[in-house]
Amino acid sequence: MTVTPATLAPVSITARPLRCRNCGAERAPAPVAICDQCLGPLDPVYDPTRRLPDRATIAGRAPSLWRYQEWLPFDGEPVLSLDTGFTPLVEAPALARRLGVAHAWVKNDTVCHPSLSFKDRVVAAAINAAAAFGLDTIGCASTGNLANAVAAHAARAGLKAWIFIPDELEAGKVVGTSVYGARLVRVRGTYDDVNRLCAQVADRFGWGVVNVNLRSYYGEGSKTVAYEVAEQLGWRLPSAVVAPMAGGSLLRRLRRAGDPGDGRVGGGGERRRTRRRHPGPGRGRRRVRRDGGGGDHRGGPRPRPRRPVSAGRRTGFVHHRARLEDARGGERRARRGARH
Ligand SMILES: [Zn+2]
Repeated sequence: MTVTPATLAPVSITARPLRCRNCGAERAPAPVAICDQCLGPLDPVYDPTRRLPDRATIAGRAPSLWRYQEWLPFDGEPVLSLDTGFTPLVEAPALARRLGVAHAWVKNDTVCHPSLSFKDRVVAAAINAAAAFGLDTIGCASTGNLANAVAAHAARAGLKAWIFIPDELEAGKVVGTSVYGARLVRVRGTYDDVNRLCAQVADRFGWGVVNVNLRSYYGEGSKTVAYEVAEQLGWRLPSAVVAPMAGGSLLRRLRRAGDPGDGRVGGGGERRRTRRRHPGPGRGRRRVRRDGGGGDHRGGPRPRPRRPVSAGRRTGFVHHRARLEDARGGERRARRGARH
């Protein structure tokens, strides 16, 4: 059964075209995150000739992630979630002393609007993609913060929201989701099973599942953390960044934020580049190793690889693993440099 998505009032925003990260195939903008040629992940394509704002223009814009809108995957003006992002960068001198560095800062996304989490950034991007495609329902596969963010953004935009979670998730993690009136579906199975079900409902009902078929647009919201840090440090980049690993997406997007192919925010001319991006400790880091096939197994019975939830997720892990190894290489190079 094919259901035509209900259309909302015409909006002024359109989504950028997509290109496969593996084979380079390009396709028209669509709520699709997987290459139909090779099943690789799709990334938005930016127009290298687009007009980019200078630092003064950016400084005069409203304090949200949309002040970098030329580096987000849309043409025209964003229409939803306009006040997300531009969270404080807080200096942490005690932490700097403990780390033995001159300065350390903490990016405080716990005051991000509206759901007090980093996930507000990615949902702000995804919900504008949903608007561009005329979708009236968004959703996600989640284990907590993303569920609350999708529910909050959808409630304010007047969109319907369907949130899919593993049935064993603690109730406390999705209280916010329930408060915002989203339809909450507990799925008997693992997070991978939830993800696969989401891919099926997105196809069948024409929904925008932010971290499934809107993923190419959704992920771009993460880059704005790097832009904000640069601007808040007076358009200088820190010499090292420590980021939570989770699925690996943030680390990749932080790197992409410095990719000249995207056009350098603030007009370039930074006095130094960020040389190191460290994946932070935590469960996610281990999960990437395990699900990605593992190259760093530490004895004991080798865990049985989980079934891949989808081709996209599988290839996502391959790419995240490459980033993790790249970051480790950076750590090793930095240590070697310190010795010499
Ligand atoms: Zn491809």
